[in-house]
Amino acid sequence: SKWVYAFGGGAAEGRSGMKNLLGGKGANLAEMANLGLPVPPGFTITTEVCTYYYTNGNVYPADLKAQVSAALTQIEKIMGSTFGSIDNPLLVSVRSGARASMPGMMDTVLNLGLNDQTVEGLAARSKDPRFAYDSYRRFIQMYSDVVLGVEHHHFEDILDSHKSDHDLTLDTDLSAEDWKTVVAAYKEKVKEELGRPFPQTVEDQLWGAIGAVFGSWMNQRAITYRRLHDIPSEWGTAVNVQAMVFGNMGDDCATGVAFTRNPSTGANEFYGEYLVNAQGEDVVAGIRTPQYLTTAARQAAGADLPSMEEVMPRVFADLEDVRRKLEAHFTDMQDLEFTVQQSKLWMLQTRTGKRTAAAALKIAVDMAEAGLISKEAAVRRIEPGALDQLLHPTLDPKAERRLLAHGLPASPGAASGRVVFSAEDAELWTKKGEKVILVRIETSPEDIGGMHVSQGILTSRGGMTSHAAVVARGMGRPCVAGAGELRIDYRAKTLKSMGQEVKEGDVITLDGSTGQVMLGAVPTVQPELTGDFGTLMGWVDSIRTLKVRANAETPLDARTARHFGAEGIGLCRTEHMFFDPSRIIAVREMILASDEEGRRHALAKIQPYQKNDFVELFEIMQGLPVTIRLLDPPLHEFLPGNDAEMEEVARAAGTDIAVLRARNTQLHEANPMLGHRGCRLGITYPEIYEMQARAIFEAAVEVARKSGKTVSPEIMIPLVGTKKELDLLKEVIDRAAAEVFKASGTTLDYLVGTMIELPRAALTAGAIAESAAFFSFGTNDLTQTTLGMSRDDSGPFLEVYRQRGIYEHDPFASLDQEGVGELIQIAAERGRKTRPNLKLGICGEHGGDPASIAFCQRVGLDYVSCSPYRVPIARLAAAQAAL
Ligand code: PEP
Ligand code: MG
Repeated sequence: SKWVYAFGGGAAEGRSGMKNLLGGKGANLAEMANLGLPVPPGFTITTEVCTYYYTNGNVYPADLKAQVSAALTQIEKIMGSTFGSIDNPLLVSVRSGARASMPGMMDTVLNLGLNDQTVEGLAARSKDPRFAYDSYRRFIQMYSDVVLGVEHHHFEDILDSHKSDHDLTLDTDLSAEDWKTVVAAYKEKVKEELGRPFPQTVEDQLWGAIGAVFGSWMNQRAITYRRLHDIPSEWGTAVNVQAMVFGNMGDDCATGVAFTRNPSTGANEFYGEYLVNAQGEDVVAGIRTPQYLTTAARQAAGADLPSMEEVMPRVFADLEDVRRKLEAHFTDMQDLEFTVQQSKLWMLQTRTGKRTAAAALKIAVDMAEAGLISKEAAVRRIEPGALDQLLHPTLDPKAERRLLAHGLPASPGAASGRVVFSAEDAELWTKKGEKVILVRIETSPEDIGGMHVSQGILTSRGGMTSHAAVVARGMGRPCVAGAGELRIDYRAKTLKSMGQEVKEGDVITLDGSTGQVMLGAVPTVQPELTGDFGTLMGWVDSIRTLKVRANAETPLDARTARHFGAEGIGLCRTEHMFFDPSRIIAVREMILASDEEGRRHALAKIQPYQKNDFVELFEIMQGLPVTIRLLDPPLHEFLPGNDAEMEEVARAAGTDIAVLRARNTQLHEANPMLGHRGCRLGITYPEIYEMQARAIFEAAVEVARKSGKTVSPEIMIPLVGTKKELDLLKEVIDRAAAEVFKASGTTLDYLVGTMIELPRAALTAGAIAESAAFFSFGTNDLTQTTLGMSRDDSGPFLEVYRQRGIYEHDPFASLDQEGVGELIQIAAERGRKTRPNLKLGICGEHGGDPASIAFCQRVGLDYVSCSPYRVPIARLAAAQAAL
């Protein structure tokens, strides 16, 4: 079989589509050669050789040697020099090149082919013995380190002592004679370390380097990198052997790196750095200050050293030409490496350039508008998750960070503030004009107020769907959750982490996009939703078929959702409205009531508030559908948590505190998530849902009348497991509607539907659909109940599960398609069989996750609903799913 692919001299055996076989670097070198660009000739040993090598006990295929030697001969022909020749030696580089780029993970050897004789040939040919011996010592150093395992520092020590013995400071101060002495000492060192001399046979050198590159595929660094980036080890690496060109042969030589556009802003300007008389590693090593490529960039930066455009205008023009050709050919921003040898340009690499989210957006839009790519391609190119970077303030990447802890990146964005340890303190401090970060072991619904006024939320316990995480995402507040190394002491008002102590009032910074927690204030930068953003989102909306709604209950959330393009509310969690300080007393009175009459009395006080909530939401949503979920959580969550609050409620309700305590005990549940919640509350206390339904219809009638627009309430029953539950509650709602319509003398259309949050509901969806006008998959609970894993307690062991590959992703963040997804599919099919026009949506956290959104598209849902800040991400993901 064919193991070796040659390139150079205006042609190549490979091409860019062959990345799996030739690796990214090899495939693109071939492509550049095919395009007629100046690529030093070379060949690629395929990734299949790597795989062969590892599956056959570290031996090469039998016919590899002959193929390598033939390819080498071809390089010699093109270059007019000979590998190992004393008069006119060919030197080569040997580099790794995997399918996916693994920067800095594997090994490279330059200047291979030098020995005690060929170095003389190189000196004579280049008329520069200093250059030749400098190259030889670089080669010995690199080869010994990479191939022979003689550590780098031995050579550094030798060079340093030579410099100090001879009063020399910089490498450039050393003469040819100096390098000769250093080379001799290097070789001596190798012999001392290995007990054998540095290899002088060029073929041995070559095979040593090839073996080292294949070997480096299995080094610890590379293994770790692959694990972190999901790169399978079966992919293997290719090896690229290529004629050396020299950027360090004099002042008409140079080396540099460039991006065809600005990778941080996306601006269509040539962006890069170069160094005169230097080899590639010198640019990266940071010893000399690289110079700007273009005069415009140099002037903008106020730099003195001349640009490449000024120093070597003719070569620069060639490079500009290459830039144009590569962009036109690859139709994407490229990241280039080049070398100039004696005023001739050579291209060493091209690949798709990494960029910021802002740059990705600008480049995609610019290229589509210039007709270089289609609008669909532009939409496909933006990673939905990356939009997050554009929607929230982010930490200034240039600022210093003093790490305190890390947790889950639960809600993106950055925030700094003074540490407080309770929601009350958060509100108190905020009233005094302080910016605060709320630090809790975990949060609960009564912390809402404190969470709302905080800049950010930090918890030591809980996962991606913990209360803190869900609420913070909903509010667009940055949140780091489950930072397990934090030791929080509520009594002392301190937290300890990584040997550091933080007291109440100390300033910390959260990076909700990475999960990092820093001491002190780290400066942030504000996002700008530029014109490109709007343009791209316009294309997105014309492509997608899934509708995108938001999970929102406050007017602020609803407005944010509209601002980000939500097409309605998919989930309004009404219990969040019950915690408002102005009504919590009445709510508690309702819970304490000993009979229905007492409850109705208290509910009558709450109803006007509820009605106003819905009036505001309907007004903001201007006729778009609003799905309102009736009360869900267990009642005990509304009871006061401490004695002071108990007394307050007792006084207001005119009850004895002992009654309250007894009620508290009575309502206590061992497993509240599976307890008296959801529609079970509605079944046992129908007057609660009745009050909510009235409030909804009265609000709807009022807004419809005032605005003259249609109002589309969709009332949703939570945690249904049987058709009968739904039937009983639908009756309550229909009755409330009839009464409100009769009293007001008007009527309007509304829907009653259900959440599908229990496996039983999914399996009996055919029957449930007889009564439900729509299903909304509550995948937070559906995941919890299908996996039998608590959404609040699974963080710690799920992390281990992920590491062990039991679940690939956190199933509370990205839908478990195999299990939970199967139930969704069953429910969708059975539901639609009963009711073909059944409306289907999802409102769990997964509604904002791109992979889960793609799944929703496949199974034919009508819409996804997610927190307001994820709406643009969901729109983009929906468009990509439709392509
Ligand atoms: C769900 O369970 O997916 C859901 C949306 O409801 P909640 O998160 O309020 O339980
Ligand atoms: Mg739920």
